[in-house]
Amino acid sequence: MEKFENRVFMSSPTMHGDEQKYIKEAFDTNWIAPLGTNVDAFEKDMAEFIGCDGATALSSGTAAIHLAVKLAGIEADDTVFCSDLTFAATVNPISYEGGNAVFIDAERDTWNMDPAALRKAFQKYDDNVHEDGKLYKKPKAVIVANLYGTPAKLEEIRDICNEYDTVLIEDAAESLGATYKGMQTGRFGVYNAISFNGNKIITTSGGGMLLSDDTEALKKAKFWATQAREDLPYYYHKEIGYNYRMSNIIAGIGRGQLLHLDQHCKKKREIYDNYKEGFRDLPLSMNPFETCSMPNFWLSCILLDRGCKTTPDEIRRKLESYNVESRLIWRPMHMQPVYESNDFIASGDEYVGKDIFERGLCLPSDLKMTEDIQNSVIEIIKTMF
Ligand SMILES: *Cc1c(COP(=O)(O)O)cnc(C)c1O
Repeated sequence: MEKFENRVFMSSPTMHGDEQKYIKEAFDTNWIAPLGTNVDAFEKDMAEFIGCDGATALSSGTAAIHLAVKLAGIEADDTVFCSDLTFAATVNPISYEGGNAVFIDAERDTWNMDPAALRKAFQKYDDNVHEDGKLYKKPKAVIVANLYGTPAKLEEIRDICNEYDTVLIEDAAESLGATYKGMQTGRFGVYNAISFNGNKIITTSGGGMLLSDDTEALKKAKFWATQAREDLPYYYHKEIGYNYRMSNIIAGIGRGQLLHLDQHCKKKREIYDNYKEGFRDLPLSMNPFETCSMPNFWLSCILLDRGCKTTPDEIRRKLESYNVESRLIWRPMHMQPVYESNDFIASGDEYVGKDIFERGLCLPSDLKMTEDIQNSVIEIIKTMF
């Protein structure tokens, strides 16, 4: 087989033309600013689609998580429980506020936060000083990520949070369009974050959205996102603000993309099913999901069986030699130098997230990948076994 002339991507932007119509509208009306009709309409469309009472359009998904963390009242030394197997953007906003992230291991069924480990964490962080002389403050929030577009065990996690009277923040950055028990992800938390970064299921080049049923909280988020400027004729600041609003041009791209979300999800599912069929006889499995959920299949991933004669990185290098992009699974947060000293809680002796990281690989799942190209990718991978 020959090297591909055009690189085969994991997930690259796919535009359709509708985006340009809304951008043109912004130009024609000279609303080239972080406000305007596209911003308003995109917020409304997103809130309606997800089923939340409101939405605030922001410059990134990370900004959405940051403002969610602030709305949850996280301050210096506050405890926050957070998914361990995820991208650093899920957890960094806790650090922006000086909070103390405690990482919760993943489970096998969805690769997301393990409810049993979460329960264990709640029992440990009981507001008491323990034998080591440290105070184990109760968490103010839990941040759960839906990895690769697969919903976590959202209901169970939400119930545990309610039981302990703790705010749930859903990092649905990767899972727009995925459902859990018939409901869209991005509405299970008190505050929810979506990302429109260049590689996500729909993209605006960069951008994010904060969603909630608490419209007062969203007003506050909007205030922080526009430099915390008091409503006065002069500039007057009682709080630290940010420049986090989404521009009207970017929101135009988002409106156009949202029209094609369904189509994107369908195509991603075809890619997933095709891999699954192609790998039928190999000692590996695909990224799993619960039958009560419908992922958006943003990225197709494989998990090699134990004792496989090849490794994820060997497969990655092989694909690279054909100009095909792939990537190892997120390296768990408790294994990151920057979070080395943070606490990490697993439900048993085995660390599930670490195991998935060591045996897993994200495959090219690009919307523009033809079936022929995908079949060639499958053939390349087959030669490794
Ligand atoms: C992409 C992503 C984010 C951050 O979104 P940005 O828009 O890139 O800031 C947060 N969490 C997860 C899990 C992500 O994949």
